[in-house]
Amino acid sequence: MYNFMELKGLVRGEVIARGEALYAARRGDLLYNRRAPDRQPSAIVRARDVRDVQAVVRYAAANDLTVSPRGSGHNWSGIAMQDGIVLDLSGLNNLAIDPLARTAEVGPALDNRTMARQLTEHSLAFPLGHCGHVSLSGYLLGGGLGWNSERWGLGCHNVIGFDVVTADGALHHASETENPDLFWAARGGGPAFFGVVTRYRLALHALPSAIVTTNRFYPLSRIGDLQQAVLHAKAELADNIEYSVVLLPAPPQLSSAGPHVVLATATVFAETESDSQAAMEKISSLAPDGALYVETTPSSFEALYDPFDQALPAGKRYAVDSFWSAAPSDGYMTLYADQISKAPSPLCMALAVVLPPQQNEPAQVPDTAFSMSGNGFGLVYAIWDDPAEDDAHLAWLRATSDALAHETVGHYVGEADLARPGWLRRCYSPEAWARLISLREKWDPRGVFRRPELTDPEFKLAG
Ligand SMILES: Cc1cc2nc3c(=O)[nH]c(=O)nc-3n(C[C@H](O)[C@H](O)[C@H](O)COP(=O)(O)OP(=O)(O)OC[C@H]3O[C@@H](n4cnc5c(N)ncnc54)[C@H](O)[C@@H]3O)c2cc1C
Repeated sequence: MYNFMELKGLVRGEVIARGEALYAARRGDLLYNRRAPDRQPSAIVRARDVRDVQAVVRYAAANDLTVSPRGSGHNWSGIAMQDGIVLDLSGLNNLAIDPLARTAEVGPALDNRTMARQLTEHSLAFPLGHCGHVSLSGYLLGGGLGWNSERWGLGCHNVIGFDVVTADGALHHASETENPDLFWAARGGGPAFFGVVTRYRLALHALPSAIVTTNRFYPLSRIGDLQQAVLHAKAELADNIEYSVVLLPAPPQLSSAGPHVVLATATVFAETESDSQAAMEKISSLAPDGALYVETTPSSFEALYDPFDQALPAGKRYAVDSFWSAAPSDGYMTLYADQISKAPSPLCMALAVVLPPQQNEPAQVPDTAFSMSGNGFGLVYAIWDDPAEDDAHLAWLRATSDALAHETVGHYVGEADLARPGWLRRCYSPEAWARLISLREKWDPRGVFRRPELTDPEFKLAG
């Protein structure tokens, strides 16, 4: 076994090798999901700066070890926990905003909530993810389905430059004009990417000054009406309104409606109070009658995080998968409701979104490794506490995934059940996957960033 004494002399940050006193604590802190894969990293290194990242990658390359970059450990499948060196980037969380140029330079470990707060001070915004404690690191690398993304685009489509440490330990800049193949791969490559991103350069947006959320709760039995209504509303409403349907545990005041209810939630990102009011009136006129409860709340950008952080709290066990549908059938959301009604515990939930058709118009979508999408998107979350219930929850999630298979064209890499064979590959178009694999061979020929999920027999057969 390596004792990593040499590495300890090469980096300024902490190096904890397997077997050392702090190892169990550091390993235990790596992942958000309490259900961690049964892998034992040979060492966990907390990089202090880019030079540490370079030193770790060079050391791994020289010693035939692998490197697994870790942002905030929020990938539900715990993919950052690998058997080689886990490179914890949590120390790289700097932020520099240029308000005049409307750009920001961001360390990978900066979290969404901090970023939202800092941008608000400059009346700026970005399509950040929906939970405050997730870092930009893996969020942006995997695509980034963020707030107001229908108007602003995905997170990765708003990245204009990356600093990347590649498998030889060199630091490269990637943009439209410099290392364009690295730039293509880092915009959506996610865990199939073959380097360590140490800095993102982002294009920012003006902060909408009137952000308002309206929530309408219905019994689960109304799911069919809600799908029709949301589909119709999406065609009528402007793209600065984020509209989703969430099948969630009934809040205490609605518990008589059953263990789960349906929430139609719309957030308006408007420039003026009168625009947001007009949007609210339109949403209301298009919503089905018979809501159990309605609430409308003006919000700051940062306060958008409060309900989402409550819904997906730390300290739980999770199993999650995501589903892109090319053209959702009339029964699309009913499938989610059927599965939710069979959930092994009441905390389980699902989110189903029907996106407007322009999502798929190639002219509007930059060519990036983010290449899997559709007109319907759904997420299913199994959430529980007791490790003894792992098998039941995983079986339910996978049965749900199988029940949705005929509607599913692929998955979203940031929130896919990556432990399932072939699932990583299904997060990309066949062309993008083939290009990622060939770019890996160019940039990481010795497999410093290799991982079992990339060894995909399906791909080799097809290739
Ligand atoms: C509560 C919660 C809410 C979420 N909400 C959203 C949402 O609204 N929208 C959305 O799109 N996604 C969302 N996600 C998914 C999330 O964006 C991804 O799982 C993402 O990977 C998390 O980033 P991370 O840095 O914590 O990744 P980690 O778990 O730390 O890393 C996962 C993998 O990403 C790669 N990686 C991460 N950072 C780097 C880096 N700097 N350089 C190279 N490779 C790297 C590595 O391959 C690593 O194995 C959510 C997840 C959670 C847990």
